[in-house]
Amino acid sequence: MNNDVESQVALEREGPHEPPQPELNARARRVLKHLDAVLPDVDALYRDLHQHPELSAQEAHTAAEVARRLEAEGYEVTRGIGGHGVVGLLCNGDGPTVMLRGDMDALPIEEKTGLSYASHVTTPDGEPVMHACGHDVHTVCLTGTAALLARSRDAWRGTVMVVAQPAEETLQGARAMLEDGLYARFGTPDVVLGQHTAPLPVGAFMHREGATMMGSANVRIRLFGRGAHGATPHLAVDPVVMGASLVMRLQTIVSRELSPQEAAVVTVGHFQAGTRANVIPYEALLELTVRTEDDAVQARVLAAIERIAKADAEASAAPRPPQVEVLSSSPVNYNDPALLRRIRDAHAGWFGSGALVPGMLVPQSEDFPRFAQGPRQAVPTAFWFMGVTPLKAWNEAPGTTPLEKVSHLPGPHTSLYAPDREGSLRKGCESLTVAALACLHAGTASRDS
Ligand SMILES: [Zn+2]
Ligand SMILES: [Zn+2]
Repeated sequence: MNNDVESQVALEREGPHEPPQPELNARARRVLKHLDAVLPDVDALYRDLHQHPELSAQEAHTAAEVARRLEAEGYEVTRGIGGHGVVGLLCNGDGPTVMLRGDMDALPIEEKTGLSYASHVTTPDGEPVMHACGHDVHTVCLTGTAALLARSRDAWRGTVMVVAQPAEETLQGARAMLEDGLYARFGTPDVVLGQHTAPLPVGAFMHREGATMMGSANVRIRLFGRGAHGATPHLAVDPVVMGASLVMRLQTIVSRELSPQEAAVVTVGHFQAGTRANVIPYEALLELTVRTEDDAVQARVLAAIERIAKADAEASAAPRPPQVEVLSSSPVNYNDPALLRRIRDAHAGWFGSGALVPGMLVPQSEDFPRFAQGPRQAVPTAFWFMGVTPLKAWNEAPGTTPLEKVSHLPGPHTSLYAPDREGSLRKGCESLTVAALACLHAGTASRDS
């Protein structure tokens, strides 16, 4: 499998420089010898969750299935943290507390994969629901890893803290769990680990030190004008013209106010005003998304949006200043460099360095970095990407570089995103297990390796 991946991806050739991982691999073998016994249930849960996806903050069935499995493996389970969040603790002697996080929610997207276990779920309002971000993969790899660690307690020491998080897509779930006392009630972990599916070939993994995903903020701007007949614009303060000008002017934040070294995106995704051709409305509504590689840059971009909106309104003689509201935000997903290197070395040792692809900054956002904010000090976090694209589809996609191929393959948040089931679940359990073991202490001397 690794060789196939190797032949198709421009690879990070770190091989000879990497520390060999014989001790860690030996421990991983002791834990992963249970994988074949665990996988049938992982697969059954995956098909169930994929077929029955639940939107953000509605993950009741998913959470119940996770909690039931953790209890069956001997975890101390608490339900209903920050909504449908589930926490499972397995204390296994002295050692660090390693938190493993998986997210559970799906998206309002219609599935068109044609898979036998495709979702046909719609909400009572008729809205289609699909696991189009692979959170079902994350959830079942989490329960699979939890089972593997529970069945091999002599191979490691420490505490495993399994966290199944709701409402990631709305960027609310991590914060809700923390505000509901995740760290206060269950202890602040020493490290937090998470993984996400990516449209790379199944079996490939991507790690990046430092910023790995951009921070985001969604902003709503309400512009106030004065309505009038469309034939008498001189009697109006036209919010449509004000908004149109603002859309253009906002593009100058990235092009004129940031340095070329400061990666950022400002997109106006929603602009609504008026009802008829011959009526000048009273208001216009804009919604924006902002992405940045640095939290300080995000603060500057948000300040610039507010400054420009207010000044534009004033220049148009608006009757009152606009309302500028940050609807949701997430910080930059920042990998602790030392922890990330440890995980990357562990994955290179287990999967072979040929399975690693060069790390890229991903413009999408996550609320995972919220878990880095411990009550007293920052908690080191590491987040990596696992390829889930079937190798056949990857090989047949046009292009030679990974970027060219990815642009021809269905990615997350699309109707056609269809992870390779068998490969993704097996590799996803392995990657999370090996990463957890790289952070936990070694157990008793092996009897069987
Ligand atoms: Zn998503
Ligand atoms: Zn996601």
